[in-house]
Order: sequence, then C-alpha cells, then structure tokens
Amino acid sequence: MISEKMMELGKKRSVIREIFEYGNKRRQEIGAENVFDFSLGNPSIPAPDVVKETMLRLINEKDPVKLHGYTSAQGDLSVRSAIAEDIKNRFGAASGADLIYMTCGAAASLTISLNALVRDGDEVIVLAPFFPEYRVFAEKAGAKVRVVKCREEDLQIDFSALQEAINEKTKAIIVNSPNNPSGVVLSEETIIELSKLLERKQNEYKTEIYVIADEPYRELVYGGIEVPYIPNYYDNTLVCYSFSKSLSLPGERIGYIFVSPKVNNCSDVYAAVCGAGRALGFVCAPSLLQYTVAENLGKTANIEIYDKNRNILYDALTEYGYELARPDGAFYLFMKSPEEDANAFCERAKKYEILIVPGDDFGFEGYVRISYCVSTEMILKSLDGFKKLIEEYRG
Ligand code: PLP
Repeated sequence: MISEKMMELGKKRSVIREIFEYGNKRRQEIGAENVFDFSLGNPSIPAPDVVKETMLRLINEKDPVKLHGYTSAQGDLSVRSAIAEDIKNRFGAASGADLIYMTCGAAASLTISLNALVRDGDEVIVLAPFFPEYRVFAEKAGAKVRVVKCREEDLQIDFSALQEAINEKTKAIIVNSPNNPSGVVLSEETIIELSKLLERKQNEYKTEIYVIADEPYRELVYGGIEVPYIPNYYDNTLVCYSFSKSLSLPGERIGYIFVSPKVNNCSDVYAAVCGAGRALGFVCAPSLLQYTVAENLGKTANIEIYDKNRNILYDALTEYGYELARPDGAFYLFMKSPEEDANAFCERAKKYEILIVPGDDFGFEGYVRISYCVSTEMILKSLDGFKKLIEEYRG
C-alpha cells in the first residue's frame, strides 16, 4: 500500500490550476487573444538583461567543473556571504553566511523551515487570506494548521482573533507581506503589535514562537511603500526568500532561508534547517543560479509594468462599482464578490471569458483574486467584460 494522502494530493489539482486548464481549453477553442486569464501568479515580465548577461559571462568564463558542480549542501560560501552582506546593507539587520541556506525557491524555503521547527502535535498559524500551499507544507511537516482571518476592512492582522488562536502548542506563524492573494503590505504598526503579542505569549507559555516571514514579493511594491523587515522587530524570525518574482525567475528555482542571529539558539535552529534540507533532499540549490543571484541582489525586473496594470484595473473596477482595496504590493487584486458565493461569481465571469480565482481556496470566502501579472493589452480588452458582469447584478 502506498501513501493514500500523497496519492490524493497528487490527483487533486488546485482550484487555480483547474481554472488555468479551463483557460487552455478556451484558448484552443476561441483563440488566446479572446481569453482573459487572471488565474496564475506567473511573472509576465522578463528577467532584467543583467541576469542573462551574468549567466552568459559565468558560462563563458567560470571553470565549468566548479560552475556546474555541487556546492556545499547549504549553498556556496561566497554566495551566502554576498547575501548576508546584502541583508546588512539593505535592511540594517545583523546577518552571517553561516545563517543562510540556499534553496529551490520560497516553496522549498517554507517546507524546510517548517520541518526544521515543527514537532508532532505543534500548531502553525496562517493568516487568511493565505497561499494555499501553506496547509500542504505545514501538515506534511506534522503540524496542525490554525487559520486566523485578517480584518475584512483592511486585511491587516486581527489581533484579538490571533491572541485567541495562540496557545502552548503554537510553534510558528507564517507572515506573508506583500501578500498573495491580497497584495496587502503589513504596516509597521501591525508588525510592532505582532512582535509584542508574540513576545508576551512566549513568556506566558515559556515556549519559542517563530515567525516564518514568507517574502517572495518583498521588492514588488509601489508608490514608495516600505515593507518592514521582520528580523528588525521580532527576534525569533526565519526569512523565506525567493528570486522567483523579484527577478522574474520562477522556473529557475532559487531562493534562500535566513535564520536571524537574534533567534534563540540560532546555530541549533540553523542546524535544524540544514538537517531538514538534508532529510527532504533539498541540498545544493542550482549552482549556476546561486552564482547568478549573488551578483544581482536587490535588483528587480521592470515592475513599472505591474504598477501600470494595477492602476488601470483598480481605477476601472472601482469606477464600475466593484469593491476592492488598492493593493500596495505583489501583483494581485483581492476584490469583493458582488454575490456572497465567490465561486458562483467566478463561474458567471466565464461568460465574458474572464478567469479569476475564488477566495475560498485562500481561506477567505466572498472574495476573488485577480492576478495582474499579464499583458496590459489583455487587461484593456477585458474591461468591457468586467463592466457588463457587474451590470448583471444591478438587474
Ligand atoms: N509563497 C507565496 C506567497 C507565493 O505566492 C509563492 C508562489 O507563488 C511561493 C511562496 C512559492 O514561490 P517559489 O516559486 O519561489 O517557490
């Protein structure tokens, strides 16, 4: 007998994938230019030229045996040192190469961190709306997932609900800002309040409660908004970073985990990260990519295009009468469904070839996610459909 749980996971496609597959079918039937697919979070802008130039230079000039060979399990030392320096320079946070673990993107960073921290029976808190894979990763690590809904008015943390949810079994809370699916950036005020609450709870229960800061969208912010760097506010923090979105390299699978030196017994926690990486087979992240990102830290793809898309969509949708908050980051809009059942609304949107994702999968019913990492042309062509769609609800 094989693992039924894994078989089930493998057979069940996520709702987002289902919608994307439906889009593929429609693209074949009516032509790609007539399908307005806002389902996936796949960057639509290319990696900056400098990334390609770095890769070509490395391929042409670096010793190929070293370039394509195994690095240390936790990543090449020079790469980890460059990242540690970058963390110090950009965020003013203490860091060190011996606290960085190179990974295959944020997904691997999260699974490794959760496996490093969680013991059977522990609880992990996720803040809804949340990236649906958190549940899969946390449960596989042996945790029970507790969902705490954010405040509906601004999608910041609901502290009374969070306080209720924390108990002596709470091992970690996953914090994702800028957020997928809402695009919301947690304010400094929220991060300070979160830190105070967690410190109080750690003292009360004489336990460690870790923040797992999932930050693949850190650099995707608009209008000069600052994203607080959580290790500067709360000691027991692990940062799960990825270059998938900032450098538009999602298929290359490269990211890292940073264990803050302020984490209690940080070298043991880092050892547990290395152990979890080993146990999961996530050692020695792709070497060409490690060397490439080390030379391009802090750079981003041309995110002005996302900003433009965000403004066009937000302005048009609010003008038509939809309810949504202007997001400060990532490349998602989270919009209130004009009818209570967001699934029914998404089905109705298909009439106009508009493909959007119900919030239910993100733990937040009555809302839909619109990914605007698509061409501006597609957005402009879709607007008439969005307008007609809401008019249906006005009778
Ligand atoms: N975390 C969030 C919030 C995401 O949206 C994603 C991907 O979309 C990931 C993690 C996984 O990112 P990666 O491609 O780096 O594994």
